[in-house]
This record gives sequence, structure tokens and C-alpha cells, in this order.
Amino acid sequence: MSRPRPSCMLLTMSTHITYPLTFLTLSPISGCQEFIGNSIEFAYGKRADNIQGVQTLSGTGGLRIFGEYLNKFFPKKNIYVPNPTWGNHIPIMQNAGLEVRKYRYYDFENRKVDFEGLIEDMDAADDGSCFLLHACAHNPTGYDLSDNEWKQVSDIMLRKNHLPFFDCAYQGFASGNAETDAKAIRLFEDEGHTFGLVQSYSKNFGLYGQRVGCLSIVGKDAEEAKAVVSQFKGLIRPAYSNPPRHGVRIINTILGDESMKALFVDECKFMADRINSMRVELVNNLIATGSTRNWDHVTNQIGMFAFSGLTKDEVIAMRDRHHIYCTLDGRISMAGVTTKNVKYIADSIHDVTK
Ligand code: PMP
Repeated sequence: MSRPRPSCMLLTMSTHITYPLTFLTLSPISGCQEFIGNSIEFAYGKRADNIQGVQTLSGTGGLRIFGEYLNKFFPKKNIYVPNPTWGNHIPIMQNAGLEVRKYRYYDFENRKVDFEGLIEDMDAADDGSCFLLHACAHNPTGYDLSDNEWKQVSDIMLRKNHLPFFDCAYQGFASGNAETDAKAIRLFEDEGHTFGLVQSYSKNFGLYGQRVGCLSIVGKDAEEAKAVVSQFKGLIRPAYSNPPRHGVRIINTILGDESMKALFVDECKFMADRINSMRVELVNNLIATGSTRNWDHVTNQIGMFAFSGLTKDEVIAMRDRHHIYCTLDGRISMAGVTTKNVKYIADSIHDVTK
């Protein structure tokens, strides 16, 4: 005797039962709308119809989606990044199918921003090129543009019809004040640019493991911004379907509540001040240990990193002789320097540089 077939009705019913439950545990492709609104307000200082966004897999994921968007819709299929820049920018954009070009940012010899070089390169680029800009706490140099320099960059980008793309991975880390750190983004919004922005919550909210980010676009109007976001969704769906839910709820809890937000702002200042005090301590210890090199740049720089000026050989010697690890371009994470290890680090740096 053959077994009875299961009823179709049963299958239909189970779909009805499970569908709403599944739905409750999923974010839509674009992510959590409450989080996107909070993120937009955090960066731009306001919400507006012509600013729309999607939740992303942290800063890296947002960069990749924007790179793919450029590859699909931007006629030039290239992007200018500062020299130097965060090492991962280059493969992210290359893997998205773009040609990566560099614009001058840092004067390695004099350890300061090469502003003339930057302006010359923006001027020389074809009209309508896309430029990646670090919104604050430039990684790895720790040197940001002044207000006046940002205004000049905004002017030239408007004149050349360039497309700005801000990467904001350290809001709150540069000055200790999240509002101040958003000033370049807000200036460009005020000045009427159309532009993209990717935000990471890895460092400022300590959410590295949760992959929390937001990719937003300032369109000429709401219709344009919504059309771009719809294309972002078209890229997200075949990449990872939809983003995770947990980390954004932490952000919503904090940024959606005035007293929690005030606490975050205070703690951010505390953290930025601690890093700055470690810069001073590191230099004081270097001088005390007998180093005659000029270390002024370490205290002039801001953000999480010291672009120390150590050569590749010196970095390797520090690793081999003292078990101190930093990137081969000499970038030291100041977040790892404490009152307990600062003397050891200074002695080790002096040992490999004397
Ligand atoms: N942009 C910059 C400039 C960064 O330094 C980083 C992280 N080091 C990121 C983006 C991406 O970080 P995440 O993917 O962890 O948000």
C-alpha cells in the first residue's frame, strides 16, 4: 500500500505560518530604516529627503557597494584615492572593477599635507572624476585639511564637476567631538554637492565585530537619491541579501536617545584625549631616552594613528628585536599605547632609529 501524499493544504498553511516569523527575523535588503535615519543625522546633522542610504557591512562593505555602483553607472570607471591611503581602499576598488588612481595628499619629506599637489591633481583630472576623501582622521597620515583647505577643495570639485565620495571611519576620534569631525561632510552638503558617504561604526562605537555601517547619497533631489539607493539594493541583493540586525540596534539605542548620545559624546572626548596624551608621553619618552630625531609630527597628527616616519627596515627591526608590531609603512596604532607600555615602546623606537 502506498503512503498518502501530504496535503497541499498543509504545505500552504506551513508557508503561512513560517513566513511572518521569518520576516520578523530579517532586515530588508536596505537594512534598518531607523538606523539609516540615525546615521544620516549623525553625519549630516540633519535628515533631508535628498539624503537617502542603506545599511552596509561596516565601512568596508559600503566602500565595495559604492565601488560596484561606480563600475556599473559611472562613465569613467576609475576612482582617485589619496596617496597614501588606507591600504584596503585599493583592492576594494580594484575588485569592484575600477581603475585606482592616486592624488597627492602627503608630503613625505616635510611630514605635512601636500595641499598644492592635491589641488594640482584635482585640477589636472578629467572633469567629472570621482575622488575618495577621508572625512576626518586621515588614515594613515593623521593629517586632516584645515577649514579653509576644505573650502578650496569644495570649490575646485564644484568647478570640475568631480564626484566626492567621503569615507568616514573615525567620526569623534579626530577632535573628540563627533559634530566637529563631520564638518567637511556638512560643508559639502551646504555647498550643494551631489556626493556619496560611507560611515563605519567599528572604531567610534567599538563595534568592529558587528559590521555596522551606512552608505548614503546626497542627490540633487529626493527622486535622484531614491533612484541611487534602489541601485545600491540591486547590488546588495546578489552579494549578501540583507545586513545583520544586532549592531544597528546598539546604535539606535545610543543615537536615538539624547541622554545616551550625550554620554557617548563625553566618552568619545575622553578616549580622544587619552590618545592625545599618549602622543605627548611617547614623544617625551623618546626625548628622555636620548632620541635626537624630530618627533613633532607625532603630536601634530590626530586620530587613531601616528604615521611615525619609521622605515620598513626599522619596523621590521622593532618587530624582530622588541616584538612591537605596526604596519610596514610605519603606522602605529596609538590606541595600543598605554601608560604601562609607552616607555618600552619609546626605548624600542630609539633602539632601531639611533
Ligand atoms: N575606511 C578607513 C579609512 C579605515 O581606516 C577603515 C578601517 N580601518 C575602514 C574604512 C573600514 O573599516 P570597517 O570595515 O571595519 O568599518
